[in-house]
Amino acid sequence: PSNSAAGDCQLGPAATPHIILFPSAGMGHLVPFTRLAVALSAGHACDVSLVTALPTVSSAESRHIAALHAAFPAVRRLYLSLAPFDAEASAEFPGADPFYARYESLRRAAPLLLGTLLASAAASALVADIALASVAIPVARELDIPCHVFFTASATMLSFKAYFPTYLDAHGSATAICDVDVPGVCRVPRSSVPQALHDPDDIFTRQFVANGRALAAADGILVNAFEAMEPEAVAALRSGAVVAGLPPVFTVGPLMPVKLTETGDAAEEQGNCSDYRAWLDAQPARSVVYVSFGSRKALAREQIRELAAGLEACGHRFLWVVKGAVVDRDDAGELGDLLGEVFLRRVKGRGLVTKSWVEQDEVLEHPAVALFVSHCGWNSVTEAAARGVPVLAWPRFADQRVNARVVARAGLGVWVEQWSWEGENAVVGAEEIAERVAAAMRNGTVAEKAAGVREAAERAVADGGTSQRSLAEFVRHCRGRN
Ligand code: UDP
Ligand code: UDP
Repeated sequence: PSNSAAGDCQLGPAATPHIILFPSAGMGHLVPFTRLAVALSAGHACDVSLVTALPTVSSAESRHIAALHAAFPAVRRLYLSLAPFDAEASAEFPGADPFYARYESLRRAAPLLLGTLLASAAASALVADIALASVAIPVARELDIPCHVFFTASATMLSFKAYFPTYLDAHGSATAICDVDVPGVCRVPRSSVPQALHDPDDIFTRQFVANGRALAAADGILVNAFEAMEPEAVAALRSGAVVAGLPPVFTVGPLMPVKLTETGDAAEEQGNCSDYRAWLDAQPARSVVYVSFGSRKALAREQIRELAAGLEACGHRFLWVVKGAVVDRDDAGELGDLLGEVFLRRVKGRGLVTKSWVEQDEVLEHPAVALFVSHCGWNSVTEAAARGVPVLAWPRFADQRVNARVVARAGLGVWVEQWSWEGENAVVGAEEIAERVAAAMRNGTVAEKAAGVREAAERAVADGGTSQRSLAEFVRHCRGRN
């Protein structure tokens, strides 16, 4: 890749900052870190290293990391080896989500391994994943290296996270969580609070609160969001309305997807990965409903069946990425077992269902795609925003209801708030799904508004746009250290 610097870089190579990026686990974290790595390396002439903890939790992550370093050799790799810590965390939190268990392993490994790694790497700055903030900041401080935190979800969720410890202090952490009024931003109703936070002893809750408290100690916070989409949250974070004393908040989104080609075994492992491309190419413009609930959660079997019937009944073409397990390595079942061969035969031609990884950004930018039925993982939202694809939001867990509200308010899509998420037993029926999908496909207003969000996103990342300037300012902060 070109290492030519963007406008603000007249300094010689001696001033090139070496920025170490430390993601946590899961594609939802790795993907935005990859985009940040490429933006800093190819776009802003920084020397960038990406820390990878081995072995990765999912095979999607290991394929992605291999493809990144093949395409962008200028992004250096630094490895952390983790096995014994993982075993310890899983023993202490039996049944924990494997990605949260990995966060915990990384958090325990950080004081020792991260310190050694930073000391030997001549780092100008560390950018730590939000899930690692409270453990990474003290390690960097000890070595007098600035530590920034990269928040990989929405600015609205960042405001919630920054404020949540204050809420707990005011209400007592033993009291049940109610609606949370984030000052200057919004009221997050009890029903939208991430499920795990209702249990103070949950592994995720402990990390969430510790990291929320640590934000004020960071040197800066990067967020993959842009001002025009979440103006209240960004303003309230910066003005101190959410909590006093936060460091600068750099809004750098939507970070642009990086085209990576998987080669060799990785490509083979994916088998039919080109099927969906050929299928999409054969569909009329704006005719396809794309359905995906992200990389790391499976719907309950009963809900999968209702969704299948709903998609069949909605009358539109569809591309549906189905997951049968939390971690892809465990997802050995056949599509036919999940959905029934009869269903697959009936929808053949009109619907394409796959268990493989698809390059989601390619799907969203394809002219055949008209609607995205999405769980509202924040990366998916930013990708839909960047491509102007309207979203029918169906959040399932964690921050996704908070993100779905952002989607609805920004005009990127619609959110049926009464649709259930994990932990609520209600199954959303096929008829209801079919009606909502058909209504969203008819909705010209939402398509127009989504196109408006895309234009705002394009302005934000263009030269002189809010996100472009924010990223340049972040680089200036890092350069100041050389
Ligand atoms: N993704 C993809 N293909 C898939 C599934 C997911 O490219 O088949 C990408 C998606 O584009 C996004 C990331 O993986 O960049 C998932 O992150 P998100 O925040 O949307 O959801 P999560 O998987 O963390 O719930
Ligand atoms: N609403 C909904 N789906 C949407 C948008 C809105 O169900 O896509 C409902 C929801 O109950 C929400 C209300 O409409 O509380 C008003 O939404 P909005 O975000 O416009 O207003 P606010 O949150 O400020 O009350």
